Amino acid sequence: MAYDPENIFAKILRGEIPCNKVYEDDYALSFHDINPQAPIHVLVIPKGAYVSMDDFSAKASDAEMVGFIKAVGNTARELGLSDPGYRILANHGPDSHQEVPHLHIHIFGG
Ligand code: 5GP
Repeated sequence: MAYDPENIFAKILRGEIPCNKVYEDDYALSFHDINPQAPIHVLVIPKGAYVSMDDFSAKASDAEMVGFIKAVGNTARELGLSDPGYRILANHGPDSHQEVPHLHIHIFGG
């Protein structure tokens, strides 16, 4: 599946659509999910153009992979979730019902 630069998270990355930001660095942006499924529900997305974990794990550079995973941890710490704990999840493809074709890791807490 080719990357669609008009997907909603690409628009958020370009600043064309607002988000409730939690964390940002050179590799990733984190923001609150618009339709939370837990008391705390935050999405972490890489800044690169990757459709899903399948695409990212095959094509991203080592620096992008390290940066993205660190950003997930930094986001959870920013949210104060290290001690209480949290769940992470990423959907890939039709069988997972992935809705937005830009890689995102869900963080669920609370
Ligand atoms: P998926 O099913 O693709 O893993 O999850 C997509 C998530 O993106 C859903 O939880 C949905 O609520 C969230 N979402 C969709 N559009 C927007 C948006 O415009 N802003 C934010 N913050 N979240 C969105």
